[in-house]
Amino acid sequence: MSFKITNIVGANALECKCRSWLEHWERFTREKAKRCFVEGCNETNDLIGGYVKWASPFALNRYVIPFCKAHNAKPESQKLEISDSARFKAVPATVLETCRIQHPEEEAHL
Ligand SMILES: [Zn+2]
Ligand SMILES: [Zn+2]
Repeated sequence: MSFKITNIVGANALECKCRSWLEHWERFTREKAKRCFVEGCNETNDLIGGYVKWASPFALNRYVIPFCKAHNAKPESQKLEISDSARFKAVPATVLETCRIQHPEEEAHL
């Protein structure tokens, strides 16, 4: 099974203290990004945090998954496929659901 997503051109600025969306993803999953998550793409170099949404007109939530540079440059009109296992590793771009829960101590220092 695979799942369709679209890249969002022009990601929102980070609301947390992560230095990049990729670091945000790695921090939340506690994994190192090893390759682009797009189905069939095995690019391992120059990975960045792709800012995406599910390919549905009703999808409002934004997620972060590892992307290669080429996939990060895809227009929103182009649907990309990710595997189900990749889908479950998509990290919400909403800080309230991620960094603020996992690292509440950071907030005390702001
Ligand atoms: Zn973060
Ligand atoms: Zn890729």
